[in-house]
Amino acid sequence: MVNTEGLTGHVIVEGSPGYDAARQNYNGRFNKFPKVIVYCNSTQDVANAILWVRKHRLPFRIRCGGHSYEAYSLVNGGLVIDVSGLLDLQLNKEDLTIQIGAGFRLLPLYETLWNQRVTVPGGTCPTVGVSGVTLGGGYGYLSRLLGMLCDSVLEIEMVTAHGKVIRANDRQHSDLYWACRGGGDGSFGVITSFTFRLHPIGNVARYRMTWDFSDLKKVVRYWQDWAPHTDPRLTSSLTLPARNQGDLRSNGIYTGSEQELRRIMRSLQEATRPKTAEFHSTAWMEAVRFFAGQPVKQEKFKNSSAYVYEPLSDAALDVLIHNLQTAPGFANLIGLDAYGGAIRRIPVDATAFPHRNVLFGLQYQSYWHEDEEADENIKWIEQFRTSMLPYTRGAYRDYIDAMIVDWSDAYFGENLAKLKEVKQKYDPENLFRFEQSIPL
Ligand SMILES: Cc1cc2nc3c(=O)[nH]c(=O)nc-3n(C[C@H](O)[C@H](O)[C@H](O)COP(=O)(O)OP(=O)(O)OC[C@H]3O[C@@H](n4cnc5c(N)ncnc54)[C@H](O)[C@@H]3O)c2cc1C
Repeated sequence: MVNTEGLTGHVIVEGSPGYDAARQNYNGRFNKFPKVIVYCNSTQDVANAILWVRKHRLPFRIRCGGHSYEAYSLVNGGLVIDVSGLLDLQLNKEDLTIQIGAGFRLLPLYETLWNQRVTVPGGTCPTVGVSGVTLGGGYGYLSRLLGMLCDSVLEIEMVTAHGKVIRANDRQHSDLYWACRGGGDGSFGVITSFTFRLHPIGNVARYRMTWDFSDLKKVVRYWQDWAPHTDPRLTSSLTLPARNQGDLRSNGIYTGSEQELRRIMRSLQEATRPKTAEFHSTAWMEAVRFFAGQPVKQEKFKNSSAYVYEPLSDAALDVLIHNLQTAPGFANLIGLDAYGGAIRRIPVDATAFPHRNVLFGLQYQSYWHEDEEADENIKWIEQFRTSMLPYTRGAYRDYIDAMIVDWSDAYFGENLAKLKEVKQKYDPENLFRFEQSIPL
């Protein structure tokens, strides 16, 4: 039996009541067995956990929302430092900032902020942890207006490899502050709080359009020349399910009136003739709930990503269509997320998140129910990703993928060298390491 003396917070050891629930992450593809899971309720609990792993020389991982695509926040035979109990919150309405514990999930954060008619530009999934999504970048339906979520971070508090508590912002530990905005998950220390800049928000307009699979080329050709360049108040996505798995669809949020949105969308509508087109004027929070959908506890899936810097040629679209025509399952798709706007206004080297000048992101996605279906779905994702490599560059850290061999270049590009320097300075022993942590 492992000796848990020194660990504080809510400690769950292997085999004890609650252990099976505590070792579950969002991606049901994985089945990992940590020795101990500690739910931290304070920064001191986190510091104690770090001192404990140093003493016991056990592997450990940090977990917030547990949505890592490759379950990198779990570890067999080690300790999981779970920060989901860090939920302090201090909102300063005058200077439009909020300091929050690192354990928040997105929906409760949006709900709290909505009470004051402010928000941050995070992602759509309600249960994603604020820590993971922010530290890897953070893209959502306000990103073309307000940037990536990491662009709204003003300060972080971190427990270091020696259990010390430090603060990083643009005045102190500014190199660490830089690194945590795009490359900060699991490589430098445990983030215990974030201070975010807040943005006023009220009513928005949203749209949804659908097309038949046979319209794919026409729709992508138009969308890719339009969505990354249109009014930055509009962030738009395009979802392309595999053949016979439903309609092509595009959604978007515009921070203005429905009438203006209808006007902005007219050119796309006229060029592509959607089967259906809906427009709604709605409170921001209603739009958030709409895109959040119904709560889902777990899914089995394999996703990956790539970025598009130049419009996809007809040859690239032929490859894309071929993959969508040869999908193995019932939920195989590719998502396109428009970049540009505020994302692009920030220089590539201003934060660790390097993909500033892309037109859009691609997310290859595959979901299934039974374990026997895993292999063919995983193979399809890898085949799709690699066959698109001639037309894409890089990958998104938050859509982490164990199969990308040159992952460090793909996620961090020209910012990798500086990330390694920051790693060397703050964690020279490489205490904070996992399969895709920043190498020394
Ligand atoms: C259903 C779903 C929808 C998603 N939608 C979006 C979206 O709209 N936009 C978007 O940008 N991304 C999205 N993502 C991707 C998501 O941003 C990443 O999976 C993110 O890493 C999840 O963070 P987490 O805290 O929930 O996960 P975790 O598994 O808890 O953590 C992810 C990584 O961060 C590390 N980490 C966690 N907390 C800390 C901490 N406090 N200090 C240091 N390291 C830490 C972990 O060790 C792990 O490596 C989605 C993912 C899923 C599964």
